[in-house]
Amino acid sequence: MSRQNTKAIRIGDRVVGGGNPVLIQSMCNTKTQDVEATVRQINILTNAGCDIIRVAVPDMEAAEALKEIKKQITIPLVADIHFDYRLAIASIESGADKIRINPGNIGSPDRVRAVVEKAREYDIPIRVGVNSGSLEKNLLEKYGGVTAEGIVESALDKIRMIEDMGYEKLVISIKSSDVLMCIKGHELIAARSDYPLHVGITEAGTLTSGTIKSSVGLGIILHQGIGDTIRVSLTGDPLEEIKAGKLILKTLGLRKGGVEVVSCPTCGRTRIDLIALANQVEEMVSRFDHLDIKVAVMGCAVNGPGEAREADIGIAGGIGEGLLMKKGEIIRKVPEEHLLSALQEELMKM
Ligand code: SF4
Repeated sequence: MSRQNTKAIRIGDRVVGGGNPVLIQSMCNTKTQDVEATVRQINILTNAGCDIIRVAVPDMEAAEALKEIKKQITIPLVADIHFDYRLAIASIESGADKIRINPGNIGSPDRVRAVVEKAREYDIPIRVGVNSGSLEKNLLEKYGGVTAEGIVESALDKIRMIEDMGYEKLVISIKSSDVLMCIKGHELIAARSDYPLHVGITEAGTLTSGTIKSSVGLGIILHQGIGDTIRVSLTGDPLEEIKAGKLILKTLGLRKGGVEVVSCPTCGRTRIDLIALANQVEEMVSRFDHLDIKVAVMGCAVNGPGEAREADIGIAGGIGEGLLMKKGEIIRKVPEEHLLSALQEELMKM
């Protein structure tokens, strides 16, 4: 897969674009003013593989809280601002590594300019975000409603406005909850701009529907070499966004490392509680992110041993017990209740 050739833009100690690995982002759902809760959530997400974190800045107290949050986290902090340009300025002064604004709702060009000047002073990038829900009236009229072309034109207009102010440290996001519109929008903008793209399907939904919509949308976009950083938006725990984001990147071969779990769907031959075991294994292996291996959790001796043999390590279930296999060899038979701990022991040796 060839990556689109985009500008490299530094965000804190990370770089997006310019052929660098696609970074995973999420957004806190804590109150930003609650420093303790926000820092706790950011650190959990960081341990799970989050590269960049965004927080909402709805008021001055939140903008002020960024100072303390910054001291206690290790990944770049992005401030998300709507409407009030003063919040953007205060967030930059508090140490935000990037700000996300929609210049369309910040107000007059003077206010946008004030934000741009502050970003220049602190040398941080601005993400220009355009959502299908906030498309300008003239573009709605021009395109007869919300369309990919309209979203792209809106984003490019805003980019031009900031470029005219002499600032080019920009990242673009164009989002729509309509997956096909989102894909088309990214194809169009990637052909017309070389700024890094923050890709996501907005308001994608709850865990299941959000993960599926994001996987389809991001999968198609990323597979074309478009996209420099992603966010999977889910109505739920942001931790799930990180897990989904990592899996999407790994599935596309854009990220290496970590334990991949393959497990069978179970059928009438299954004689152990494989569904529970597979879930426990998935949870357990997340602590072994430094390993780059495949773990198979299979229900029976029909397909089980074959699949388990192909994996670096695996279980093939029997009746109340299972075979533990490593690199194609049966290591031993283990009673069902000890399969998880036996697998964990082997992983620790690896
Ligand atoms: S591995 Fe065995 S238990 Fe699992 S689905 Fe296949 S045949 Fe059924």
